[in-house]
Amino acid sequence: MPPDTIPFLEWFVRSSWGLGFAALWGALWGSFANVCVHRLPRGLSVVRPASHCPSCQAAIAWYDNLPMLSFLLLRGRCRVCRVAISWQYPLVELLATVLTALAFGRLVLHGSGELPLQLARFVVYGHFQLVLLTLAAIDVEHMLLPDRVTMPGIAVFFLLGRLLGDVTLVESLVGMTAGYGVIWLIAELYYRLTGREGLGLGDGKLLALIGVLLGWQALPWSLLTGSVLGSVLAVPWLLVRQRRGATETMRHVAIPFGPFLAIGAVVYLLLLFGRSLDEIVSHLPML
Ligand SMILES: [Zn+2]
Repeated sequence: MPPDTIPFLEWFVRSSWGLGFAALWGALWGSFANVCVHRLPRGLSVVRPASHCPSCQAAIAWYDNLPMLSFLLLRGRCRVCRVAISWQYPLVELLATVLTALAFGRLVLHGSGELPLQLARFVVYGHFQLVLLTLAAIDVEHMLLPDRVTMPGIAVFFLLGRLLGDVTLVESLVGMTAGYGVIWLIAELYYRLTGREGLGLGDGKLLALIGVLLGWQALPWSLLTGSVLGSVLAVPWLLVRQRRGATETMRHVAIPFGPFLAIGAVVYLLLLFGRSLDEIVSHLPML
């Protein structure tokens, strides 16, 4: 590369252009996440065919497929058949945009290390958040966390984590094993005590995915945040479900645990990951 390239790149990335591109990157991948959320649980390819309306099957033109904007311009309806488009689409795109911009701020603008390492971290941890978002949205809609996402995810993020070297090999392997093990243990105990299935092992694979990239230190935080949020949000969740005609009672309420584990992991990544206790305390006034 010519000698001017590095300073230019450095300037570009650290200017508001960098943050803007990161947000746009997140929005575009958020759009792809929606495709995955809709198609993966149905066993369909996420590549082909091109986007089409799930109701009338009409192909969606690129200008009707812009993240968030098209939903607003079309006022939430398909251009051809006028059927309402789910709120899930712009919401997932908005979350993907915000989370990716936050990861850029945390890992590149305010991160340690040289620019190439910072950008590599942004790509790995940014996409890790998008995988968690995809899994959470699938869990909300279908009450399952597909092996098709979690299992390859564990392998891929294990390798990417080794390349980055932010956690040690032991922290990663213990994180993966303990993540799965603790959910397996809780599920087993719950089943022995009540005779009913409480947690799914999909939650265990999700926690293994979190542990393999972020290390075992992420597990207590994710579990604690997940349990607290799950308890607090169980009642509103039940009310929404009952309005839609579900007939669960509070004792047997089925709520997906995956989204809460994912939120816990994202909060850990954005606030605590890679920081010493002193650094965390010194950042507290900013929170
Ligand atoms: Zn349509």
